[in-house]
Amino acid sequence: MGRFDVTMIKYLTPEDFRVLTAIEMGMKNHEVVPLQLVASIASLRNGGCHKIIKELIRHKLVCFEHSKVQGYRLTCLGYDFLALKALTSRHIVKSVGNQIGVGKESDIYIAANDNDEQVVLKFHRLGRTSFRQIKSKRDYLKNRKTGSWLYLSRLSAMKEFAFMKALYDNGFPVPKPHDFNRHTVAMQLVQGYPLCQIHEIEDVQQVYDDIMNLIVHLANYGLIHSDFNEFNLMLNDKDAVTLIDFPQMVSTSHANAEFYFDRDVQCIRDFFKRRFNFESESLPKFSDVKKVYSLDVEVNASGFSKEIQEFDKVLDEMNDQKEEQEEEDEFVAKALEADHQEDKDNENLEYKNELEKFEAEDKKKEYKVENEKCKEV
Ligand code: ADP
Ligand code: MG
Repeated sequence: MGRFDVTMIKYLTPEDFRVLTAIEMGMKNHEVVPLQLVASIASLRNGGCHKIIKELIRHKLVCFEHSKVQGYRLTCLGYDFLALKALTSRHIVKSVGNQIGVGKESDIYIAANDNDEQVVLKFHRLGRTSFRQIKSKRDYLKNRKTGSWLYLSRLSAMKEFAFMKALYDNGFPVPKPHDFNRHTVAMQLVQGYPLCQIHEIEDVQQVYDDIMNLIVHLANYGLIHSDFNEFNLMLNDKDAVTLIDFPQMVSTSHANAEFYFDRDVQCIRDFFKRRFNFESESLPKFSDVKKVYSLDVEVNASGFSKEIQEFDKVLDEMNDQKEEQEEEDEFVAKALEADHQEDKDNENLEYKNELEKFEAEDKKKEYKVENEKCKEV
């Protein structure tokens, strides 16, 4: 049995879920939610509420914190369960199987629906790495700092679903999105393997062209994937390409659109050179893009626009900070290098001085010996 014993969902009572949801709601404004607040949101008495919480803690859905304030918070698993509960009651998922992927910012599981068809669940986990790096100086993060991993993971999933749906509906080769809830997207299982696991292709030129055409086709629709690489492209047994992983998509009217476009193209060129020793003349340029449709505008005008904009602000901030960090790192590295060189120079100097002193002493000694020899004679 994997991480999720979904049968457990059936054993949790409606009251258990009411308490779990109450903690989730409390976390919008509190890092840890005091018992009284949980009880009052769940309309339960403290005693009864506490009994339920103890059970939830036993199942690792909730944990107790007593740092600054005493209270409770949802665990990752607790949040996963809330999403799974919603997706099971909507008949999107019936059971969850093995984990099939670990991304930087997600866990991917295979699952089954009521008709025993396979579906993929992508649990977004922002904050595992990236969020720690955000110095939450901006208001929208300051206010949301508590429970921000819940909040950002939810935005990420929502954005991914919105773009996957728009792309799928417009005939792009992406998995069919089934549904989403909170931080979890349910989608079609793609047959095949990620390109990073593929070492032989019959017609390398063809696959390369298909992939480059996909980048251009996306841009003609107003979109840049901006994490277009061998991990986010899947190839089936007929060498047909499917694109996945959409939280970081940007519009072709983004201030840095050309940079992202070129980076996507370069990523693929580098991979094909490295893996297949394949280089091609054809190199799509951002200036070649001919906009035929504004899918970027369409998605941003959808029901998710506010959330997408909010999430994009965070992404831009993260990218800025990454850049700042890189500049800072470079500066520090250079400073260290200079220090190091100085140390070395000093060391050399010291060594030189020592040597000179030593040699001088030696000379003195020699001189003495010579002198004494002279005396003897
Ligand atoms: P991340 O944003 O964390 O990189 P991805 O969406 O790229 O997450 O998924 C991580 C890995 O999981 C992929 O590289 C792929 O191997 C696998 N995967 C994701 N979605 C699917 C899918 N729909 N079908 C099959 N495999 C998938
Ligand atoms: Mg990925």
